Amino acid sequence: MPNEQQHVTNLDSWLDSYAARAETLAVSEVRALFSVVSRPEVVSLAGGMPYVAALPQDLLAKAYNDMMKEKGLLAIQYGGGQGDQKLREQILELMALEGINASVEDLVVTTGSQHGLDMLAGLFLDEGDVVLAEGPSYVGAIGIFRHYEAHIEHVYTDHDGMSPEALQDSIDKMKAQGKKIKFLYLVPNFANPSGVTLSADRRPKILEICKREHILIIEDNPYGLLYFDKPVPDALRSMDDEGIVYLGSFSKILAPGFRVGYVLAPPAIRDKMVLAQESALLCPSSFTQMMISEYLANADWKGQIDTFRGVYKERKDAALSAMHEYLPNLETTRPDGGFYLWVTLPEGIDSKAMLPLAVKELVAYTPGTAFYGDGTGQRYLRVCYSYPTPENIKVGIKRLANVINLQTDLMETFSNSGR
Ligand code: PMP
Repeated sequence: MPNEQQHVTNLDSWLDSYAARAETLAVSEVRALFSVVSRPEVVSLAGGMPYVAALPQDLLAKAYNDMMKEKGLLAIQYGGGQGDQKLREQILELMALEGINASVEDLVVTTGSQHGLDMLAGLFLDEGDVVLAEGPSYVGAIGIFRHYEAHIEHVYTDHDGMSPEALQDSIDKMKAQGKKIKFLYLVPNFANPSGVTLSADRRPKILEICKREHILIIEDNPYGLLYFDKPVPDALRSMDDEGIVYLGSFSKILAPGFRVGYVLAPPAIRDKMVLAQESALLCPSSFTQMMISEYLANADWKGQIDTFRGVYKERKDAALSAMHEYLPNLETTRPDGGFYLWVTLPEGIDSKAMLPLAVKELVAYTPGTAFYGDGTGQRYLRVCYSYPTPENIKVGIKRLANVINLQTDLMETFSNSGR
C-alpha cells in the first residue's frame, strides 16, 4: 500500500522535469499545521498570526477611499522597481523610532520582508555557503536558506540573545573547515521563535566581530516596535551603515495582507536588490504601497501600534500566568514584546512526536524542530500568544499541560517498570 507521499508523487507526471532545487521545497512545519488548527474547537498556539481585529476597519476603509480619490489611476498602474518614493520617505520616519538615520535612496520596498530575505539569499548564497543564525531561528528564513542549499550554522543563543563568544567560536569552526561564511542572519528584537532580545551590551560586540571578520549582517526586525514596557535597544543598523542590511515590515504593526516590507541596504547591495526585484516582480504592488502611505499620512498609526502593544501584552501575561499555573516546572522565556514564548520540555519528550496527541486534546503549537536547520530542537516548542483571546490561551495551555503531564507520567512508569 503506497504511503501518502508516494501517492502524491506518483500523480506528478513532471517529476523528471523539475530542477534539483525543487527538492528543497518542503512544507514548513508551521504551514502543514494550518488545516488542522483552523478547526474552531482547536486552540491554536501555532501560527504567528497578528491579531488584525484590533485594527479598526473604518481606518482602512477611509485610507482606501481617500487613496483611490487622490491617486486611483496610479495605484492600479505599474510603479518603480525600488518602491513608491513617498512611502519610502515615510518609512524613514518609522525607522527613526529605532535610532536609524538613512537616506531614502537606500530603501527598497519589498513584498513583505519574506521577499526581501529571498532576494538576499538569491544574491549571496551558492550551494554549501554558510549562513550563521541564532539557535533557534525563524522558520521562514531557514526554509529560504535551505532552498538555496546553504549550510545553516546555529550559534548559541540565551536570554540575552546571541552570545558574541559563541559567534566567534562558530566563525572559527567554519573557517577551519574551509567553509565560506556569507552572512549572519539575526532577529534581534523579540525573536521568532524564542521571544528573546539581543541585549544592548552584546550589540556592539556582535557588530565588531562581524566587521573584523568581514561578515555581512542581515538584521530582520519585524517586531521591534511591539514592545510591552520599554523600547528596545537601538538597532544594529543605527551603529553601522556599511556592513548591515536591515529588514522591516508592515505585517505586524499594520497587517500582513498588504504584503509590504522594506530593505535598507548599502548602495551596491541596494542596486542589486532593485535589479532582482525588477526581474522577479517588475515592481512591488503600487496599490498596497499607496494604501499604506495614505494610512501613515492621515491615520493615528502610532496610536494603533500602542493598541497592538496593549493587546499583545495582555496575551503574553495570560500565557505566562497559565504556564505558571499549569506547567510551573517548565522553563519558558519571558518576552518583553512580540508574539512568542519558547518552552523547554522535560528531558525525553519530543515535541514533534507529541503534536498529534496535543491536537487530539484540541491544542496546537509549533515543534522546536521547525526552527533548526540541523534536525535538532525536539526538546522545545513555540507558543504563539498573538491570536487567541486571553481566555483561550489559558484553555490551550491547560490542555497542553495535560498532554505533557501524561507523557511525563508514561515515561516515569516505563522507567520504573524497567528497574
Ligand atoms: N521575519 C520574521 C522574523 C518573521 O517572523 C516574519 C513573519 N512571521 C517575517 C520575517 C516575514 O514577514 P512578512 O513577509 O510578512 O513581512
